[in-house]
Amino acid sequence: MAMVNKKKICKFCENHRETIDYKSYKVLRRFVTEQGKIIPSRITGTCAKHQRELTRAIKRARNIALLPYAYDVTQN
Ligand SMILES: [Zn+2]
Repeated sequence: MAMVNKKKICKFCENHRETIDYKSYKVLRRFVTEQGKIIPSRITGTCAKHQRELTRAIKRARNIALLPYAYDVTQN
């Protein structure tokens, strides 16, 4: 039982969030690396359901340029 408790709690489950708003980039930014990559759920402790929501939100945020794709976009 003690080992189970050591598992990280999903931040979104903890806050009872059903959906993740792609406009809340301050939240999203915590789940991407400095290179703009999505941090694996194993590291952040996000559950599979919310990781999927998160991925979708991040991709959406990228589309409207709230988040960078990666820092090599300067090569355009
Ligand atoms: Zn969750």
